[in-house]
Amino acid sequence: MDNQRTVVVQTTSDIDIVEDGYRWRKYGQEVVEGNPYPRSYYKCTYRGCCVRKHVERAFQDSKSVITTYEGKHKHQIPTPRKSMINTFADLSL
Ligand SMILES: [Zn+2]
Repeated sequence: MDNQRTVVVQTTSDIDIVEDGYRWRKYGQEVVEGNPYPRSYYKCTYRGCCVRKHVERAFQDSKSVITTYEGKHKHQIPTPRKSMINTFADLSL
């Protein structure tokens, strides 16, 4: 099912929340065995969209944030905010 597509994105970042243009609401957190960093669960806040993601820091490399997306958005990216553009500029340094 196209809906169940999973995408894993690894980013080097000091912050756990990597801005990707969509709006997310945190709905859970879990401790993963063998990883000192908890995994956080988010759901897209767009009505009717059921894309989820979870975010965790790589235990071998505390500078890496691994974001796993499940599903596919059925809508456009919400209007970008200036702060997001700045975040992307920082990431490319
Ligand atoms: Zn969505």
